[in-house]
Amino acid sequence: MFVSEAVDATGEALEVWIDQDLCTGDGICAQYAPEVFELDIDGLAYVKGEDEELRAEPGATVPVPLPLLTDVVDSAKECPGDCIHVRRVSDRVEVYGPDAE
Ligand code: SF4
Repeated sequence: MFVSEAVDATGEALEVWIDQDLCTGDGICAQYAPEVFELDIDGLAYVKGEDEELRAEPGATVPVPLPLLTDVVDSAKECPGDCIHVRRVSDRVEVYGPDAE
């Protein structure tokens, strides 16, 4: 069970979502952070909650567990589809991913 959630430099909680429309299904994210990302039977990656249930709704998010922040950020950096988005919960500003400033 996750004990804490990742925060950005200002202490804000972070969450992550995947744009399945751009996912190539290569599975890199699921290798980096299998606790957060998983390929479903459709061959695309989805975020996974603490309950280990995949969130199949478009744009669905899960909290980023603090111990997994590096793995989640590395997944976003390496994602061939540029479709992993990490954002602040409070204002939905992307902090890691293709739309981060
Ligand atoms: S790394 Fe990106 S493109 Fe690859 S399976 Fe994960 S979300 Fe899809």
